[in-house]
Amino acid sequence: MRSPRRCSRNGCPRQAVATLTYVYNESTAVVGPLAAFAEPHTYDLCEPHARSLTAPRGWDVVRHEGEFEPPPPTTDDLVALAEAVREAARPAPRPPEPDQNRPESPHQTGRRGHLRVIPPNH
Ligand SMILES: [Zn+2]
Repeated sequence: MRSPRRCSRNGCPRQAVATLTYVYNESTAVVGPLAAFAEPHTYDLCEPHARSLTAPRGWDVVRHEGEFEPPPPTTDDLVALAEAVREAARPAPRPPEPDQNRPESPHQTGRRGHLRVIPPNH
């Protein structure tokens, strides 16, 4: 869903993880999660640039602290479960394996990507 996007700062080669939006009528610069679509007055930023952003004079910065971190385990479990359900519901190619092997979820770890339909008369 998210395609790799580069930081919009000149000469910055890092991948964008956040989107800066200028809300002109409120004189506020909002740094939030990477937007799905590029819109006017928005700029993709890498994490260092998103965290070090300073607003123009007279502007406020609203920064969503922590939004660029990996999601907490509970959310990640839900996402993994949703992905496993989606993978089981369609003949998808092998998805990338998750980086982390959490011992508290043995029923999912190591089995994603190995789901396949077994004929009844195998
Ligand atoms: Zn950057």
